[in-house]
Amino acid sequence: LTVLGLESSCDDTAAAVVRHREGEAPEILSSVVAGQTALHADFGGVVPEIAARAHTEKLDLCVEEALSEAGLGLDELDAIAVTAGPGLIGGVLAGVMLAKGLAAGAGLPLIGVNHLAGHALTPRLTDEATFPYLMLLVSGGHCQFLLVKGTDDFTRLGGTIDDAPGEAFDKTAKLLALPQPGGPSVEAEARNGDPRRFALPRPLLDRPGCDMSFSGLKTALLRERDKLLERDGGLHVQDRADLCASFQAAVSDVLAEKSRRALAEYMTLSPVRPIFAVAGGVSANMTIRSALDTVSAEFGATFLAPPLKLCTDNAAMIAWGGIEAFRAGRRDDMTLQARPRWPLDQSAQPMLGSGK
Ligand code: ATP
Ligand code: FE
Repeated sequence: LTVLGLESSCDDTAAAVVRHREGEAPEILSSVVAGQTALHADFGGVVPEIAARAHTEKLDLCVEEALSEAGLGLDELDAIAVTAGPGLIGGVLAGVMLAKGLAAGAGLPLIGVNHLAGHALTPRLTDEATFPYLMLLVSGGHCQFLLVKGTDDFTRLGGTIDDAPGEAFDKTAKLLALPQPGGPSVEAEARNGDPRRFALPRPLLDRPGCDMSFSGLKTALLRERDKLLERDGGLHVQDRADLCASFQAAVSDVLAEKSRRALAEYMTLSPVRPIFAVAGGVSANMTIRSALDTVSAEFGATFLAPPLKLCTDNAAMIAWGGIEAFRAGRRDDMTLQARPRWPLDQSAQPMLGSGK
């Protein structure tokens, strides 16, 4: 099976071709990602209208590039897969419309893929993750523990009750006048910082279950920053590094402890070969990765963390999600709707017509 995937749900425009022959490891023949960071830089966040226009302008080019890198024509594909949600509706629509056009033009099956399923199935693209496995999906818009039992079978064990960690990283960067996206810049600053200097909260650790909260962390960080600003009239380089390191340590501690609880719950299902996988942009963070790796080892579980490029938004994961769906017999048609919301544990089929 050879599938072209399109992704345009947030601020990355992406196209990729993935091939999978039964019994062999999947092959990423091409994976093109055009970011929009520069376009949104002046606004301190992603502006939906700007994102939608940029997707419309760049999608065609990304598809052309992905096909030419793969050395394939449309007629050599088996299906077109596209992110049909959740995400910023203008961008998702741009992708879905182009995918419909390509599928109709080339007479190929069309498959709408849930963006979160794309992230959650990535360990099966990069590693031999067999069902069931435990997944921590941790990104700019999401944070949840999922029990992945099948291509279309996800059970949510818990997650954030407010902000996603990626959002918290981005807001932290904004508060400290660091460039966006915040994750990589906060991580870079944190390398020279003292994670113990500021005692930031670890919310909800005293409560049972896997739910998390990250919005209080941002408020606490703001308070520490303002204390320093008041005292010194500015932020010293070391202060900023220490704030970043302390923030990162707090996020990492919460994710690690809640992973312990999720693993304990998952282990009661007594899987033979326990697998704990991470995905989503925040899992690119090395401090967080190694904390999760340690927790995983405590349970004797295999820890799977895809390469960084496949952790953040990309279209290879959408092409792969399409391949899995195709194998499961799923096909969409020209009535495929773009959905701003699409919770994973109801991911079987985009509901037609409602857009909700
Ligand atoms: P979603 O997938 O939930 O719709 P998204 O598309 O914004 O959200 P991703 O592209 O998966 O998410 O991840 C982007 C987020 O990951 C951003 O918030 C970014 O700051 C964060 N991120 C990227 N690299 C790192 C890093 N090294 N450390 C921490 N966070 C990071
Ligand atoms: Fe994403």
